[in-house]
Amino acid sequence: MTHIPASVVGYIQSMWMAEMILTYLHIDVQGRLIDWGGYPQHYGLTTLTKNKLIVEQVDFLDGFLDITHTEVLQYLNIGGNRCINVHIVPLDGSIYVLLFDVTDEHDKQQKMQQQVNELSILTYRQSQLLQELEATRKKLSEEKGQLEQAIKLKSDFIATLSHELRTPLTSIMGYTKLLDDAKQASDYETNYLDSVKKNANHLLSLIDNVLDQTKLEIGQIELHPNNCNVKQMLEDLKSLFLPIAQDKKLLFDIKIPNNLPAQLVIDELRFRQILINLITNGIKFTAKGFVELKITWQSNKLYFIVTDSGPGISSESQQKIFTAFHRESTANTLPGAGLGLAISYHLVELMGGQLSVESSPQFGSNFTGFISADSIQFTNTSNINHTNIKILLVDDSIDLRSLIELYLENEGYAVITASNGLEAVKLTLQTKPDIILMDMQMPVLDGYNAVQQLRAKKFNKPIIALSGSNIEHDRNYAFKVGCNEYMTKPVDPENLLNAISQIIQ
Ligand code: ADP
Repeated sequence: MTHIPASVVGYIQSMWMAEMILTYLHIDVQGRLIDWGGYPQHYGLTTLTKNKLIVEQVDFLDGFLDITHTEVLQYLNIGGNRCINVHIVPLDGSIYVLLFDVTDEHDKQQKMQQQVNELSILTYRQSQLLQELEATRKKLSEEKGQLEQAIKLKSDFIATLSHELRTPLTSIMGYTKLLDDAKQASDYETNYLDSVKKNANHLLSLIDNVLDQTKLEIGQIELHPNNCNVKQMLEDLKSLFLPIAQDKKLLFDIKIPNNLPAQLVIDELRFRQILINLITNGIKFTAKGFVELKITWQSNKLYFIVTDSGPGISSESQQKIFTAFHRESTANTLPGAGLGLAISYHLVELMGGQLSVESSPQFGSNFTGFISADSIQFTNTSNINHTNIKILLVDDSIDLRSLIELYLENEGYAVITASNGLEAVKLTLQTKPDIILMDMQMPVLDGYNAVQQLRAKKFNKPIIALSGSNIEHDRNYAFKVGCNEYMTKPVDPENLLNAISQIIQ
């Protein structure tokens, strides 16, 4: 350790002494002032007189001089906001009184004490606040639990009620269809039946919407992604909406891009539901002009935009448009419950996408969105070139149609599809396919009748019956009306492809 030189020590001492403004009083045993040194004026002692009793000259020493050993009087207040430490030192029959100015130190200590006090008050207040916060959190959490329970009860109740309503309604619709199919009704009765059907359909879609909304509220809707022939689905939507739009004298179109993959993995039912909601709104709210759906495919995202030339939506209302039960006053005279957009919005989100609206009251509305989807890449395993072989695939089940179409296209066949016998007869005459795969049980016109009509019209290419029935009688009847092959569903793809290649040789 290095020693501090004596001169530096001396300097430090002098600085320290100067800082303390040291003053001393030398007093004899009788208490008279012998002498003094330093700066007594600093302590207000301006008129010191030797040999005079010190207590008469310095008040604060009164009562403190009768001592046997050194005593220190700390933080004596001597007025004028000054504070001193007084050391009383008895020495060789006399007394030395040393005065140190500690005003600054005292002030600092007081401030520190004040800060400590404030801090402890703050700490106390903080702990009180924490307690209050914890109590509020507990209360809120209890209330949240009760609220969740109430929402769950409400949702369960609505779900049960909707199911209860749905069951008899489905039966009403079923019987209405049976009556309709019987075709013995008069014009009046047909009109009544149409009205029952229309209203039952409307009621059913309302109930389904309420059910979906309640399920969405409690997160009970799950997606079931599957292979989907989006192009086919869009074509189906086109045939569904075209007559409705034409009834209102509106132009309607669905634009499908060339780069759309043959198959995408999506929840087809839910995607269809979203598009149906948006197109239905477009047609419902547009009095004249057009409604259009445009699809684009890019980077595993399926974009859709439904544009109409309808009344548009003000920017204020656009904020609320996706909230459940919100309807514009202009919609009051039109059917609806204000759920379609809220449901579509949530479904699109569930499907990894977004839905938004752009609109201005004069220029109609654009509902724009996208969903995420994976495309299925196929490798063509066959060396045979089938591209010049045209197959007409007839089936009312879109799922089955999509699946078989996929197998056939994968083998390189050119595929045309129809969803019932009547459509099949029409398409056959127009497109002259090389082979027909015909479902036997279909609405409008079944497979047996369709084959019969085609053979009567001299269509002589092969027809393979695809039937759900494995009854001998049905099989024989299929051959009787003109089928060349009979396969039962579910059809094994390899068997079907073999049957086709054998039959076309
Ligand atoms: P709903 O059609 O049953 O009323 P939606 O949730 O589908 O319920 O729509 C909510 C509201 O948004 C509608 O009532 C209507 O006011 C407005 N809206 C929706 N689509 C359109 C549109 N294409 N043009 C103008 N307004 C629309």
